[in-house]
Order: sequence, then structure tokens, then C-alpha cells
Amino acid sequence: MRLVLVGPPGAGKGTQAEFIAAHLSVPKISTGDLFRANVGQGTPLGLEAKKYMDSGQLVPDEVTINMVKERLGDPDATDGFLLDGFPRNVPQAKVLDDMLSELSVKIDIVLELIVDNDEVVRRLSGRRTCRGCGKIWHIEFDPTAKPGKCDRCGGELFQRDDDRPDTVQNRLMVYAEQTAPLVDFYAAQGKVVGIDATGPVEDVTERAIDALRPYEG
Ligand code: AMP
Repeated sequence: MRLVLVGPPGAGKGTQAEFIAAHLSVPKISTGDLFRANVGQGTPLGLEAKKYMDSGQLVPDEVTINMVKERLGDPDATDGFLLDGFPRNVPQAKVLDDMLSELSVKIDIVLELIVDNDEVVRRLSGRRTCRGCGKIWHIEFDPTAKPGKCDRCGGELFQRDDDRPDTVQNRLMVYAEQTAPLVDFYAAQGKVVGIDATGPVEDVTERAIDALRPYEG
């Protein structure tokens, strides 16, 4: 199955993407993760991307599309994939459609995670990531035993630069202006299935898997 996951920042795309990709036995391809890995390694792509990421803006399409093209060419993505964070605007979606039609395949389904703005701000501003193992915690919803220390590996917790309040507001604006129209673009192709992404993580995963069941097989 070829699946796109959309939803505002903080909808839980990264978390749900892991579970859904495992359930479908397809690779999860997250442009945010690919950019962050490049930032971490200090590659030229990472240095370029970081300028945009830190202010909550989208990295230019050309840079993003080339990175995705390369990743989709890897052998594990031949029979299916789950895209998390890409496409992020209508031009990217059009390029993706063209890329896939050259391979005589197409996106099967677009799963939209629906969460309102107030909830998104609460989720993002409390999110903390472990420097050691990368596990994501939340100071309110999923706190560690000792503040600032990871329960799993003892590593130091940090706040992603783009989860700072001013950047969060920017990311929400960018979502409304550039990414929300993407939902209409795919809806016109009859591909969008929306689910309520509030409540416990396991409940959202269950809703996602139920929603995808008719498309499996
Ligand atoms: P995410 O982890 O998906 O929220 O992505 C973090 C940041 O990476 C975004 O705020 C953008 O700056 C950048 N980014 C991720 N995916 C894309 C994309 N498809 N197009 C442009 N920028 C992206």
C-alpha cells in the first residue's frame, strides 16, 4: 500500500506513522526525520534545511523533492511506503503524482489526522526528546520520573528548536495556508480518510488501522 499521512504539526503523525507502517509492513518515510538526520550530521542539505526548520517554514520544494525522489528509489520502497510529512503542499503532491505515474503506481490512500489548534499547541509546547535514544516524552501527558532525564536510557531531554512557542504559531500558519489545501487536492481524487486523532495513542492507532482495512489486500 502507498499511503500519505497528513495532519497539523503535533497531530501525532510521527508516532502513528511508526505503528501504521509496522502494521502494513511498509517503510515509513518521514521528510522531517530525513532533514533532522542531515542537520544532526551537519551535511550541506542539513545546513540549508535548518534555516527554514528553525523558523517553522517549509524547506524549498526543489531540495525536498530531490531528497524524497532519492529515498523512494531505495529497494525497500518498491512495493509500498508510508509518507509522513510529504507532500506538504499542492506543488509537491503534483510532482509526487508524476513521479509515481512514471513507475505506473499511485497513492492509494491519504489518512488525515484531525486535531484542533489548541490541542496542537499544548502537545507541541510540552514535547521533549531524549538526546540519547530519541524517545519522545511530554511534560504533561507522558512525563519522566525525573524532569529532564529519559526513563529509558537516562539521556538528557531537550525541546526541538521548532517546538518553541513562536515557531509553533508559524508552523500552524504554514499548515493552514499550504498543507490544508492538499487535503482538498486529494479529496478531489476521492482518496482522503479522516480520523479523530485525540485521545490515547493506542486508540488513535486502532482508528487508523480500522480506517485502512477496506484498502488492504
Ligand atoms: P516535521 O517533523 O514533519 O514537522 O518537519 C519538521 C520541519 O521540516 C518542517 O517544519 C519543515 O521545515 C521541514 N519539512 C518537513 N517536511 C517537509 C516538506 N515536505 N516540505 C518542506 N519542508 C518540510
